[in-house]
Amino acid sequence: MSTKTVGVLALQGDVREHVQTLNKLGVEVIEVKTPSELSKVDALVIPGGESTTISKLSEIFGMFDPIRQAIANGLPVLGTCAGLIMLGDIADPASGQKSFGGLDVTVVRNAFGNQNDSFEADLSVTGIQGSVHAAFIRAPIVQRVGEGVEIISKLADGRIVGVKQGKAIGISFHPEVTGETRIHQLLIDLI
Ligand code: GLN
Repeated sequence: MSTKTVGVLALQGDVREHVQTLNKLGVEVIEVKTPSELSKVDALVIPGGESTTISKLSEIFGMFDPIRQAIANGLPVLGTCAGLIMLGDIADPASGQKSFGGLDVTVVRNAFGNQNDSFEADLSVTGIQGSVHAAFIRAPIVQRVGEGVEIISKLADGRIVGVKQGKAIGISFHPEVTGETRIHQLLIDLI
C-alpha cells in the first residue's frame, strides 16, 4: 500500500509538535495552509492553539469551507484542544467564531477556569492499551454528546475529554507535548 499522507492544519497553534509526533509513525506529513495542500492528505490534524484565531485565519486563507466540506465528506480528522473546539458546536463562542463540524457534541471553552487552567493527568482512552499521559492547557470540556458519538476518554470525575464519531476524533488534551504517539496512530488507522 502506498504511504499515507497526514496533514497538520498550519494556520496557528502547536503545529511543529504534531508534525514531530507524526514523523515517528511512518507517514508522510505535510503542513496544510491551502486548499491544494488539503486535497493531498488522507487525514488531517487540527492542532491546539486558539480556536478563535484558527477560525478567523481559516476564513481569511479561504480554508474554512474546504475543510468543512472535506470533513463532511469523511476525511479522517483529529482535533486536539482548540482542534476539538473546531469540530464541535461551541457553547460559548467568541464573536464571529465558527467551527468546521464533524462531531455532534457541544464543547465549553476554557472549562477549567484560571486556577486550574493547566494540569496533567493519566487517562484511559478506548482503543489504547495502558494509560495515556495527557497535558491539559486551557482545555475545553465536552458538555453534550449526540447520538452516534462514542465517548473514548473521561477524567476521574466523569467529565468527558475524548470523543469519536465516524472518522472524527476530538480530545481536550495535548498528546503531542508528552511524547504520546498512540492517539495519532488511532487517526492513521481510520484512513
Ligand atoms: N482555550 C483555547 C481555545 O479556546 C484552547 C487551548 C488549547 O488549544 N490549548 O481555543
